Amino acid sequence: MQEIRRDVVFNRSIIFSPARAKRPSDFKAHQKPGESAGNPARTSCAFCKHHEHECAPEIVRVPPDTIDWKIRVIENLYPALNRTLDIPNPNNNGGGCELVLPGFGFHDVVIETPDHSVNLSDLSAKEIGDVLLAYKDRIGQLAKIESVKYVQVFKNHGASAGASMSHSHSQLMGVPFVPATVSARLDSAKENFCRTGKCLLCEIKTEELLVGESTHFFALVPFAASLPFEIWIIPRLHASHFEEIDHEKATDLGSMLKLMLLKLSKQLNDPPFNYMIHTSPFQMSADSLPYAHWFIQIVPQLIGTAGFEMATGCYINPVFPEDAAKVLREVTILM
Ligand code: AMP
Ligand code: ZN
Ligand code: ZN
Repeated sequence: MQEIRRDVVFNRSIIFSPARAKRPSDFKAHQKPGESAGNPARTSCAFCKHHEHECAPEIVRVPPDTIDWKIRVIENLYPALNRTLDIPNPNNNGGGCELVLPGFGFHDVVIETPDHSVNLSDLSAKEIGDVLLAYKDRIGQLAKIESVKYVQVFKNHGASAGASMSHSHSQLMGVPFVPATVSARLDSAKENFCRTGKCLLCEIKTEELLVGESTHFFALVPFAASLPFEIWIIPRLHASHFEEIDHEKATDLGSMLKLMLLKLSKQLNDPPFNYMIHTSPFQMSADSLPYAHWFIQIVPQLIGTAGFEMATGCYINPVFPEDAAKVLREVTILM
């Protein structure tokens, strides 16, 4: 039976239209992320240790000042935005209504491991926590630049999730405006807060949707998931900005992220996926903080999206979230 659910977080509708011939567990990826046609798997690349000279300049190295690095944040060699352009004058800000602005902004790459063959989920919880702390450090640097209004952290894994490099990496973009999806999410949270006095994510119902729990986080398939097997990892305690995370929470989140990626990999045959950190813009008024709650969205790319989604912003999901959560909950992972 088809159903239309309201996604109150992103303020959009999702159509659930179960593919009757398929069980949820049949939505497996057919192709390994590294194996795209005409692109034979390589064994080294510019992101590997000892290839640093092939990369754009380095911004952060972990640990600092050693050739034996574990993580590097570097400039993107082909950036979507240009960090050297004139910074837009914050006093000459037409409220985001300008039709044309200089393409100023930051586009960094986070190399998560020096080893070409290691995936993020192969790292330990502490090592993944260190990648999250590298995001935090770089976001902290960008927060000091007044013209940067928002930072989007994202990871593309596998060619059909948009990755052009197979070496494990993620990206950060610091943009001089608040993107429309971010504004829509905050407007929806504000509307709910004004009506109920409560934060949407502090109050989110888990019940049949829960996939995992840790000391500081829980993971669920959202009630109105846009795509099959989408997962959100949400901090238990209300926090508006990802970059407020401390070392202990970063390791705990590293463990939760690893568990969720391994569950997706085991149940769905190592699918291509994206994750995104949905945090809050830098310059938010104090009265906005009580309803702005950051979270991580993980989306395996199993079905592709096309004209209807582009035209309407409304996704058609063939797997009910309760069924996806059951499939993910039931698989045991030894870590
Ligand atoms: P993705 O396309 O999601 O795999 O992200 C990889 C990113 O790395 C792309 O945005 C590329 O522009 C960028 N990139 C590719 N080669 C280099 C390099 N040698 N140094 C820095 N960035 C690079
Ligand atoms: Zn490599
Ligand atoms: Zn909250």
